[in-house]
Amino acid sequence: MKSYLGIDIGAGSIKASLVTKDGNILKQTSRTTGTDTNEIQFLKSLEEIVSEIKESSMIGIGIGSPGPIDSERGILIQSANLPLLKEVALVDHLKKKFSYPVYYNNDANLAALGEYRFGLGKGSSNLLILTLGTGLGGGWIYQGKLFNGYKGSGMETGHVTYLAEGPHCGCGQRGCTEAYFSASGFLNRYLETTGRSLSSAEEFFKKVRETEPAAVRLLNEGIEALAQLCRGLIHTINPERIVFTGGLILSWDLFGNSLTKRIQEIIFPVFRTYTQILRGGNVSGVLGAAALCMENHE
Ligand SMILES: [Zn+2]
Repeated sequence: MKSYLGIDIGAGSIKASLVTKDGNILKQTSRTTGTDTNEIQFLKSLEEIVSEIKESSMIGIGIGSPGPIDSERGILIQSANLPLLKEVALVDHLKKKFSYPVYYNNDANLAALGEYRFGLGKGSSNLLILTLGTGLGGGWIYQGKLFNGYKGSGMETGHVTYLAEGPHCGCGQRGCTEAYFSASGFLNRYLETTGRSLSSAEEFFKKVRETEPAAVRLLNEGIEALAQLCRGLIHTINPERIVFTGGLILSWDLFGNSLTKRIQEIIFPVFRTYTQILRGGNVSGVLGAAALCMENHE
């Protein structure tokens, strides 16, 4: 049976699995990364992973990482969590070292492919994925194919404006939805509002659980911003399902119902009757990366 290597480049580690078409994991490994990881170490880790895992049934490699990336040229442009990496041509590097086809895309797009093939998006002809993590990402699978946009940078949904002149966003502009609903957004806004810094999104949600007024207000504003983003997307692409993934959905009990209710309130009645809003996130980034490879080898 054919197998596909999925590699997920994340904050703190590179994870990899060799998987079959039905999602069975045959082998897995990982390497740690950090803020001091340079290009040479990074590429060496990728090489080691491929050498360790490759076997005769393997037909290709799929890789995912946070953006910004250039998927067409196979370049990791920059990564907030790996600051020493700039313009790394990882696809060419692996193609030169090994004789496998290599596919590369951003983590939100791969989350979408993973949910489509192995998760709650299975079989949907029009599936929208929103990733709630450090940032706010999006991926759209239409009739079985990932929508990439002209140069692979489509569905940067986190940077749809919620409020012009709103808070600063990591992209350099203001008032993006990501500035209202994402780990970085919550932490920045909490610091701006209270003068106190929090170390993680978990800590922010803990404040919400303790009903601290500032944290509750920021979450409610975030829910409104995210609901308005969903409204825009529902009216634009008419998805059958919206599946939420990413680290923040661990706190779904604090916002999932309010978010779903608010989205329902502000969309056309006809959309209310069939648009499914679901909590996903049980499909790993590694499976999403393997799914990218499968998509190119049907
Ligand atoms: Zn932005």
